[in-house]
Amino acid sequence: MATPQQLQLHAPLSGVLMPLDLVPDRVFSSRIIGDGLCIDPTSTTLCAPLAGVVSNVQASGHAVSITDENGVQVLMHIGLDTVNLAGKGFTRLVEEGQQVAVGQSLIEFDADFVALNARSLLTLMLVVSGEPFTWLTAETGWVDSGQPLLGLNSVELTTDESVAKEGEALFSKPVTLPNPNGLHARPAAVFAQAAKGFSASIHLHKQQESANAKSLVAIMALQTVHDDVVQVSAVGPDAEAAIKALAELLTAGCGETVPVTADVAPQPLEASSPKVLRGVCASAGSVFGQVVQIAEQVLDVSEWGESSRVERDHLSAALTEAISALQQMRDNATGDAQAEIFRAHQELLEDPGLLEVAHVLIDEGKSAGFAWRAATGSTATLFKSLGNALLAERAADLADVSQRVLKLLLGVRDRELELPEGAILIAEQLTPSQTAGLDTRKVLGFATVGGGATSHVAILARAFGLPAICGLPVQVLALVNGTQVLLDADKGELQLDPDLAAIEELQARRALAQQRQRHELAQASLAACTRDGHHVEVTANIASLAEAEQAMALGGAGVGLLRSEFLYLDRHHAPSQDEQASTYSAIARALGPARNLVVRTLDVGGDKPLAYVPMDSETNPFLGVRGIRLCLERPQLLRDQFKAILSCAGLTRLHIMLPMVTQLSELRVARQLLEEEALALGLTELPKLGIMIEVPAAALMADLFAPEVDFFSIGTNDLTQYTLAMDRDHPRLASQADSFHPAVLRLIASTVKAAHSHGKWVGVCGALASETLATPLLLGLGVDELSVSVPLIPAVKAAVRTVDLADCQAMAQQILGLESAGQVREVLRLYRDATVETSLVMEN
Ligand code: PEP
Ligand code: MG
Repeated sequence: MATPQQLQLHAPLSGVLMPLDLVPDRVFSSRIIGDGLCIDPTSTTLCAPLAGVVSNVQASGHAVSITDENGVQVLMHIGLDTVNLAGKGFTRLVEEGQQVAVGQSLIEFDADFVALNARSLLTLMLVVSGEPFTWLTAETGWVDSGQPLLGLNSVELTTDESVAKEGEALFSKPVTLPNPNGLHARPAAVFAQAAKGFSASIHLHKQQESANAKSLVAIMALQTVHDDVVQVSAVGPDAEAAIKALAELLTAGCGETVPVTADVAPQPLEASSPKVLRGVCASAGSVFGQVVQIAEQVLDVSEWGESSRVERDHLSAALTEAISALQQMRDNATGDAQAEIFRAHQELLEDPGLLEVAHVLIDEGKSAGFAWRAATGSTATLFKSLGNALLAERAADLADVSQRVLKLLLGVRDRELELPEGAILIAEQLTPSQTAGLDTRKVLGFATVGGGATSHVAILARAFGLPAICGLPVQVLALVNGTQVLLDADKGELQLDPDLAAIEELQARRALAQQRQRHELAQASLAACTRDGHHVEVTANIASLAEAEQAMALGGAGVGLLRSEFLYLDRHHAPSQDEQASTYSAIARALGPARNLVVRTLDVGGDKPLAYVPMDSETNPFLGVRGIRLCLERPQLLRDQFKAILSCAGLTRLHIMLPMVTQLSELRVARQLLEEEALALGLTELPKLGIMIEVPAAALMADLFAPEVDFFSIGTNDLTQYTLAMDRDHPRLASQADSFHPAVLRLIASTVKAAHSHGKWVGVCGALASETLATPLLLGLGVDELSVSVPLIPAVKAAVRTVDLADCQAMAQQILGLESAGQVREVLRLYRDATVETSLVMEN
């Protein structure tokens, strides 16, 4: 049983604290080794941050780890690439196995020698055993050696040995380590991380010694050197796959660049390797192709610069050049999504806050590159720390613009990527620039370790129509270029070396899907009427004027959801009322007077931060001040938006919709503000006012809301997360957080009933409406409007045309009595197969 206790970690050195993200070494900054902190040291004796046993001290004296009695392991690593100094400049004051007290001296170092001969003196203190911690001081600024810095709950760890072993140990073939300095911290971290991906108990052996392969410290304690011969052993269900994959990883250098000789050249994966790697879908679809690994160039930035004037000039010239390069990319962009991303990047480069931070550092003597990287890096850290998925994704954009400017400052040219046909790109993280610059004729899809479904990379992948998976295990980075893989983004799977049958099945599926899409597109302008003559509105979910235009071209009957918070994403200042008014009017004009435009007021908070609406960070933002709650806290924001929306009153059939409504009082206060603004503008007729039904409370009280609204639109994305108590972005709950769950469907059914009994219409604008499998069900439940993602308009309209309303109603009643989302999907699949067969018979 775990017994949490508070443990304090003390500063091992005096110096200036820096966020880990700023460490110019990806293995440390990405926290593969563990989370912790970095100190730019001013003292020269490394002291113990906690009491415990020295579990490892590297022979070269640049790194030491301490393990306390509860298994908390802390690694300290002095400088970057200091392993290359082979012990020069370091004096070890302790031995392995020795008990040390807090503050006891561990290693002395010659700061001048290390600074001159290694890449950096930045020193890391990392909690490698993985306990979460809280800061006991500010996260940046000056610290004194011995000062308490982090508080962590130590937890008695279950040792790997306690994992049930099954069968005999399997051994890999011997591997000669190609790494020039053996398995020091960075390659050891990559290896341990990969080993953790297997459930087997795994060991790394060097002669008579062996180490738990999932423990970074244990691997480092083996003190391996170049050309050491090691072996991997594993016991457990996936032992065979583990030894195969890990031996290959060792052979390939565990992420370090190693000379490729015939001996150590990576071998293609064989059948016994893990066959499937799992992540989450970032862009739907499936393709078969070959692996092409993409690595971001590591840039070497010197810390100190010339005079402040020279460095400021350098930075300013690089920023100007980067902005004009982005302008060129914007002008050449193939679609709106791309152009928007480059515009957002230009804004970041023009951000006065970033420049101010960089200037302060330059004035302290730092080089333009160092200052720029620190400024962008600390802002990215801030974005990530706010516990907000969308802002964390914007941190990736910051890293992208940071790198763009750094390359210009250092005169580094982008390496031209020679892509083979049928490339499936694999990367730790693809930057938006890399993604947008790709030759999409050769790229079939992406698979990344980082990124999320809301990242710009995912948005671009969807805009290109390329399947993409993110959140894959790091093992994916060890796949050898040219490996054949089947990327099934719908299932979130990357299948390695798939067999012929799987490839053929995929190709047949694709051919059929393409044929169907052509047919649906050709019929997109036909009405969405069921076979028995029931008409339903198929409208669009949009976030820009371009999408509105595209939606009309694809046969959309109007706009069922304009997510207004997306219109000015990435802005650091609020758009003026005139600017907002002109955006809404342009969209209204594109639709014209005969179509509905439903503008949702700002839905900020939860997973959707808006830079110009600063908010306090919240422990549980999805349950916090979000949507209408935030707008009612800042009524001027809502009034301004109402005024801007009202300016297009005569241009279209205008509807205003409030998000996240939970209480009747929220609706009433918002209506009052709207009426006051309309009166002030001299409007005699109010636009229609409706609410999103996305909080279970609103669905359950729909009979009380219905008399006071003009319409409802059901947000199944949030309604599902709140009904099932599953975060909508949770990667491990993704398959369970399913809007087909009968609990969600029952809420939809009762909402429709309440609305219809008061003569009000109901739409569905959550992602469930975009699933053609759900179309007959939603029709059967009585939904009047389906607001769907733009490219799916033709498919949803076609799905409506294949069914009979009477059948749908009967099936919907049956479905409401089912137990699980799986059962619901099964009934719908059977119905779909039957209707497809009927349509084929009738067409012939
Ligand atoms: C929803 O919650 O289903 C919805 C449409 O709103 P959003 O996805 O923007 O939260
Ligand atoms: Mg919502």
